[in-house]
Amino acid sequence: MLREIGEGAVVQVHENPYSSNTYIVVSGTHALVVDPGISTTDEVCEVRRFLEVSGVRDVYVIHTHMHFDHVASTAVLRRYLSSRGFRVLVLHHRSEAEYLERGDNYVTLAVPFFDSVLEPTQIDLVVTDGYKVSIGEYTVEVIHTPGHTIGSICLVVPKLRVVFTGDTVFSDGVPGRVDVPTSSPRDLVSSLLKLRSRLHGEYLVLPGHGRLYRGLLEELIERCLRYLA
Ligand SMILES: [Zn+2]
Repeated sequence: MLREIGEGAVVQVHENPYSSNTYIVVSGTHALVVDPGISTTDEVCEVRRFLEVSGVRDVYVIHTHMHFDHVASTAVLRRYLSSRGFRVLVLHHRSEAEYLERGDNYVTLAVPFFDSVLEPTQIDLVVTDGYKVSIGEYTVEVIHTPGHTIGSICLVVPKLRVVFTGDTVFSDGVPGRVDVPTSSPRDLVSSLLKLRSRLHGEYLVLPGHGRLYRGLLEELIERCLRYLA
């Protein structure tokens, strides 16, 4: 189900309760799709129809990190969109791209957590901290926030005062788990401090799971830091 959440963003809540949220931002003929998640065929079609109706031609699919519940449907979404004439680019942080391209089933948690298999997923553009992508009138900036996984990123859209936090920060002030392959509690603390130093004031925080948060980002990060202390 696709739902408007304000500030030009749309969220897809999936039938599969383990799937991440999927977020879409449209501007002009460009769209940003954050974390395709674990989609049913109907859900993939719903995204395609939404992009068609919105007049989108260029789709940037970006993952907040490599976990199966965030990336499982990227390959199929790309096929659906490409077959309808969309130009699709899939972006991922440099340190994890190879796991997706070779369809790693363990580091991505496909087998141990989801009893599933990850389709190898081509990455068109590897991104690093500070990378910027233009989506119509918006600039989307990558902040590398390792901790939950080595290549976790947050995405900031300054003009919308929106930040996509993946599994780094959740809306209840709890950070993502740090007991999975490539995760590091120390790196997560550093990443939270980095986020706090870069982003100030009110934001709409759109996490990988659960509800959104609207308010002072510093307060949310403070709660996560206390949780980890
Ligand atoms: Zn995760």
